Parts: sequence; structure tokens; C-alpha cells
Amino acid sequence: MTGTPAPFTAGDYEARMRRAADAAADAGLDGVLVAPGPDLVWLTGYRPVETERLTVLVLRPGQDPVLVVPTLEAPDAAAAAPTLALRDWTDGKDPYEATGALLAGSGRFGVSDNTWALHLLGLQKRLPDTRYVALTEALPMLRGVKDAAELDRLAAAGAAADATYEEIRKVPFAGRRETDVAADVAALLRQFGHSQVDFTIVASGPNGANPHHEAGDRVIERGDMVVLDFGGLKHGYGSDTSRTVHVGEPDDEERAVHDIVREAQEAGFRAVRPGAACQDVDRAARAVITEAGYGEYFIHRTGHGIGVTTHEPPYMIEGEELPLVPGMCFSVEPGIYLPGRFGVRIEDIVTVTEDGGRRLNTTSRELVIVD
Ligand code: ZN
Ligand code: ZN
Ligand code: ZN
Repeated sequence: MTGTPAPFTAGDYEARMRRAADAAADAGLDGVLVAPGPDLVWLTGYRPVETERLTVLVLRPGQDPVLVVPTLEAPDAAAAAPTLALRDWTDGKDPYEATGALLAGSGRFGVSDNTWALHLLGLQKRLPDTRYVALTEALPMLRGVKDAAELDRLAAAGAAADATYEEIRKVPFAGRRETDVAADVAALLRQFGHSQVDFTIVASGPNGANPHHEAGDRVIERGDMVVLDFGGLKHGYGSDTSRTVHVGEPDDEERAVHDIVREAQEAGFRAVRPGAACQDVDRAARAVITEAGYGEYFIHRTGHGIGVTTHEPPYMIEGEELPLVPGMCFSVEPGIYLPGRFGVRIEDIVTVTEDGGRRLNTTSRELVIVD
């Protein structure tokens, strides 16, 4: 693993805020409101806890950004984002009025998806002439195209997830509970530099047919297919990879289904190139599974974006015509789920380059036999 990357600078964050304000203007918005969460981290580097006290970044085209912040948290905000103008409010005062003054009382604003209803309703009550739209709806690609420093972090997170897979292949599966293997996965992700583990799916035998089964008390048996899908954050950027392993020798059908998913994943990856639509990636992967007769068992979209979160736009799904652009990063993760029997999923994070896709997960996609 490489060392810790250089932190983003105040200049980096100012450029991102400017881009967001410009994109808002292009989208016909009067501004953007950003609550604590991934958008605020990406725009400012400030990561406060989400509480009932209002913290909100106000971005308006052609104006300096302002962070509305509780007085007691203002020192933390100033330390995290030293060049950002703060408008603090003390307990007992109305923070929505203070924010309203920045919005000039009317207009249409993008609001970060994870803004608490409490806060949005508070604003709406004070400012009946304002209208709001979800930020990912208004500006789906605000964080979608990664710069070189972000791609380095995503590659490092992917490498750490790959190192985790190489180690987890060696642990015993048969006779242990899914939760035991999941704990091993979490420990390995942290050992390889993750600061946060978001999910550790260990779905054995029939549990593998449920794409979002996490890990339970089921004891893994010889003969089980086991879907492994894990990820989290390293240096603030996400990892997410899936491989399906078999405990002992697989039978012919298990091998055949795994081969189909592997071919589908390859087809999805090969569809990645600048100018292709997101839905083309889904179509390419899905066609392989449909032609093999398993179409009805591929029950989710083919992929999702990844960045400062592990699930974000763009989505690789039928109907998404957004064109792929170099620097986008997303998963390609087809699967086949046979109810009551087993499931197979194979997932790599892929980034778009001028020449096509580049995988950020590079472990073998062959069916691996574990003990
Ligand atoms: Zn089996
Ligand atoms: Zn995953
Ligand atoms: Zn995923």
C-alpha cells in the first residue's frame, strides 16, 4: 500500500464550491443548500455530526459561499474550513431566518439528499416562496467525475479491498458462521487502511440468492456457494468489490452459472468507454445473462457510482442515458440469484479513461475454491 495522500487544500475546496455554484446556475437553480454529509465533506472538508441544530452551506452563483453553523460548533468549522465565511447562530435564535436572509426569500434551490426533513421543513415554513429539488436530481454529476487525486484514493481503496479478498480466501469457511467470516473481512479492511467499513456481505448457500443479505448465524457448509461483497472508506474514498467462492468442489451447474456471471461482468466492463450511455453498460451485462436463460434471476441494476460514498450517481441502469465521461467511477456487478439455492455476483469498480474502462479491482474473477 502507498502512503497517506496529501490532503486536499482550501484551493481545491474553493474550486469545487465554485463549480457547484456554476453548475447550479446552468441548471436554472438560484443556489444549493448542503447539510452535513458526503456533499459537505466533498465541498468543504468539514465533517460535523448531523444534529437537530442547523448547519448548512449556502452556495449561490456569483456570491461567496457561507456556512450557517451553530455558535458552539463554529470553532470546529473554522478549523476544518479556515477560508470559508461563517454565519453562526446561538441557541434560542432562529437559524432558518438567518439562512433565509442568505436566500433572499425566494427562488429554486438544490438541497443535498440527506438533509433532515426537520431542517428543510423549517426553511419551507419561514420561506414559503422558495422551492427545493434534490441535489442528485438537479446536479447528478456534481461529484461524478473524479480528478486525479480522487482517482488515486479510489485506486488505493480498491487495492485494499483486493488485499482483503486475497487474505479472506485463505480463512476457513466450512463450519463457521457467516458473521465470523464477516468479522474477518472487517478486520482485514481496517488492517489494509480502511477507516470505515460500510458492509461485509457473507451470503452462503440459499442466503446468496438475496443480494442484500448481510451476514447471519447460518453455519457455512461444504458445497456452499458464498457471495462476498464488502467495502468502506479509505482516505475518505470508497471501495466495493464482490467475488463468489465455493466451499470445496463445485458442481457443473454452479460452475456454469459462475461462468455466465463472469462473462456478463466482462461484457459490462467492455462496454465502458467515453460517450457510451450508462444504460449501455447494463444492457451489455444483462444481454449475456438473458441469452443464457437466467434473465429473470438478475434482479438489480448493473452498477452505481462511488466516491466519498460507496453508493452514488451515476447508476448503470436501463433508462439512464447520461454519457460516460473520463474520470467517472462506478461498479460493474451483475449477478444471478436462484431462490432457495444460491447466488453469484462479481463486482469490480471501474473508471472511465479515454481508451475505455480501467478496473480498480484486479483480483481473479475465476471461481475460487475455499476450505
Ligand atoms: Zn456447491
Ligand atoms: Zn458491492
Ligand atoms: Zn456495489
